[in-house]
Amino acid sequence: MKIPFLSFDSMHSAIRAEMVTAFENFYDSYWYVLGDRLVQFEKAYSGFNQIKHTVGISNGLDAIYLALKSLEIQAGDEVIMPSNTFIATVLAVSYTGATPVFVEPDLETYLLDPTKLEAAITSQTKAIIPVHLYGQACQMVEIGAIASRFGLKVIEDNAQAHGALYQGRMTGTFGEINATSFYPGKNLGALGDAGAITTQDDSLAAKSKMLRNYGSQQKYTHEVIGHNMRMDELQAAFLSVKLNYLDEWTAKRQEIATRYREQLASCDLIVLPAVHPDATHVYHLFVIRTERRDELQVFLQDKGIGTLIHYPIPPHLQKAYEHLGYKKGDFPIAEELAQTSLSLPIWPGMDFDQIDFISNQIKSFFS
Ligand SMILES: *Cc1c(COP(=O)(O)O)cnc(C)c1O
Repeated sequence: MKIPFLSFDSMHSAIRAEMVTAFENFYDSYWYVLGDRLVQFEKAYSGFNQIKHTVGISNGLDAIYLALKSLEIQAGDEVIMPSNTFIATVLAVSYTGATPVFVEPDLETYLLDPTKLEAAITSQTKAIIPVHLYGQACQMVEIGAIASRFGLKVIEDNAQAHGALYQGRMTGTFGEINATSFYPGKNLGALGDAGAITTQDDSLAAKSKMLRNYGSQQKYTHEVIGHNMRMDELQAAFLSVKLNYLDEWTAKRQEIATRYREQLASCDLIVLPAVHPDATHVYHLFVIRTERRDELQVFLQDKGIGTLIHYPIPPHLQKAYEHLGYKKGDFPIAEELAQTSLSLPIWPGMDFDQIDFISNQIKSFFS
């Protein structure tokens, strides 16, 4: 049985006719940037995300960057984030000139550990970026309480967790201003690059709209040195179609995760992902851990099963961040996760035979 790490087949074949119509309407509209399609998607996503404003941005990295810029984060400031995040979170902070500061995640949930936050806060700290990694909501209430005690802003990196909840409230609504990504492989994915900012705050929404469009509110009048970081009309048209299916696709991801858990429960040499009792998980990724990760990955590859590693090198050990002066051993939890994590195939439309086949291969590897 050949099982790819990710397949769009089931999702995209089901919506093919709607997507083609969306393209044709877009094509015939003769309006390709900052038009009605983007406004419609922003409105629809705000409805889904239970938030006042959505601002369509070129991609997730740019969305984090513009969220930080809207808050006037700049050189000399420090911004806290988990030590095991995807590089984009770190890059966005670097673009502003501020310094990324890493805090270790919880070894069970892989998410920013609120009990370790306070020790990382200095007089330079301006903001915290919790990352809802792999699709599970961070402990936003605990993180928010610490942030408000120290007068810090919270910016959620919600690229992997559209629709996840913490204490019944959706990710992307807790921070002053938040960012998400619609990269094709994300739970809600465009057919190219796209991202968004979400916020409850009218002035931050207006500011990020200005920053994404040359620093302009009125054509040819420029109030700040802005950027060209707008979401395309074409991607907005496709995303509006796909958004209608997101809840259904999330439910499928959750069923797949439940099946993996049932099948792998007896295998005590692997660690299954833990979910905090107050959080929900939308399973952008299903990440298991084992000391024999590299061997297991090769074994599964030989059986036709695609897996990936999210992520093999933590940010503090990347060459790009040499100048921060970290060394091996500085963030042992992030380093251990990088050594032991393996992401198994998970996509809406995967059937139980495939999950059982993968699970049986894993069990036979360990027996
Ligand atoms: C994908 C991702 C991003 C970046 O989004 P792009 O649209 O690829 O720029 C940022 N943070 C996390 C956690 C991501 O998974």
